[in-house]
Amino acid sequence: MKISYKILLCSIMIMAAAFGFGGYFFVNFVFETSLEREIGQAMDESSILRFAFETAALNVPSKYVVLQDNTIGEIGSKLENSGEGRMLRISDESRGVLYVSEGFAAGTDLLQGIEAQTRLYQVIHPDDRYYVQTGTVLNAMDRLLYLETMKDVTGVFEERRQGFSVYRRVTLIMLGCSSVAMLFISFWITRPIRILTKAARKMTEGDYSYRAEQVSRDEMGQLTCDFNTMSGALETNIRELENEVRAREDFIAAFSHELKTPLTAIIGYADLLRSRKLDEEKQFLSSNYIYTEGKRLEAMSLRLLDIIVAKRYEIDAQRTEVGLFFDYLRDMYVEREDMKFSCEYQGGFVRAEVDLIKTVLLNLVDNACKASEPGQLVEIFGERREQGYLFSVRDYGTGIPEEERRKITEAFYMVDKSRSRSKNGAGLGLALCTEILKLHGSELSIESTLGEGSSFSFLLPYEEENNLEEEGH
Ligand code: ADP
Repeated sequence: MKISYKILLCSIMIMAAAFGFGGYFFVNFVFETSLEREIGQAMDESSILRFAFETAALNVPSKYVVLQDNTIGEIGSKLENSGEGRMLRISDESRGVLYVSEGFAAGTDLLQGIEAQTRLYQVIHPDDRYYVQTGTVLNAMDRLLYLETMKDVTGVFEERRQGFSVYRRVTLIMLGCSSVAMLFISFWITRPIRILTKAARKMTEGDYSYRAEQVSRDEMGQLTCDFNTMSGALETNIRELENEVRAREDFIAAFSHELKTPLTAIIGYADLLRSRKLDEEKQFLSSNYIYTEGKRLEAMSLRLLDIIVAKRYEIDAQRTEVGLFFDYLRDMYVEREDMKFSCEYQGGFVRAEVDLIKTVLLNLVDNACKASEPGQLVEIFGERREQGYLFSVRDYGTGIPEEERRKITEAFYMVDKSRSRSKNGAGLGLALCTEILKLHGSELSIESTLGEGSSFSFLLPYEEENNLEEEGH
């Protein structure tokens, strides 16, 4: 059963019970108050009649010492006629009836219970009408008499019956109206649930970008908000997983392609060597091709190994003086006379694993050399920034087309494949740099203008050093 119907059903049941009990108690309260008032009036009337009887008995001429039965009857008749609709019954000491009004239909059970100084009453229902029957003792001229009265209270009972009937009708109308109102309210309350259900279904169908509309600011609104946050996180994770799978597929495709090229050359030249007798020069050239392509394969497998290791590696970052890196680069490239190098840096300390950062810098300077013409300048900078220590390598070589910039950090990606291969590149250097920098919580930033050169830079966490002197080299 739908939750909105459950809410509706529960509220109808609660409302029906509340209206039912409320109405019953209200009508009954009114009835009891009216009945009490009628009983009070009947008792008052009984007292008045007793007083009137005793007064009338005193006024009887004192011919007899004892009040005669017929005189009692006369007084009773007078008392009956003095009030409209009055009914009374007078009985003697042995509870024998001396006078009774016409229609006085009450039994004698109350009469049996009357004693001196007691006043009794009871509500009776002898025919289709209701009466309050009262009973009291009379003392007149040495006689002990019993006076009973009957007061018609059918109107009070009739009012109660009408009250119940009106209230029943009112309750039914109110229940009908409030049920319609509750139907709308329960649909309105459960709207966020329906929206969430739709959103969950959409997500199951694969639409991860679908978000549930927040229609309230209460707990349901909060739930919708949390659900949307959860879907956002789920969407991001799934996109990341999809990208990872795609990257892995691209990697395998590129890897097999990179393997195929040197292998084709190796197999071709090996076949040439074994099937024909070549002169010495051709034999040397063929074996040289096999050697260089074999070397390339070896270099590629080592790089790949480095990347795989870097992905699973936990760095042991040490506080390191930056001069160490720049001295290392200067020593590495001092021998190269075909390129011009310039190295400028501010002194300081960074937190890094030395060998890994040396590999990054070496790759960047190597790439800068590969992209430059012989004799061109390669600049290496180091400067303190607010966010950390910035290393950058700048060249004035080929530059990188804008659309390629994002891809060159992917494994096996080369902008100019033949140029890269001719320089022993396999498109793995920058992928390795990216992995190493990721371990240091950093990333490679690339600026480049086609034909004018490129600048590769990255930040490392700066370590404060007191009394540090700024150096320029
Ligand atoms: P490779 O081993 O081919 O150098 P990298 O991953 O280091 O592999 O570089 C990927 C590609 O990015 C290179 O093949 C080259 O096309 C391009 N590249 C890298 N650095 C530069 C640079 N400084 N100037 C121009 N192109 C560059």
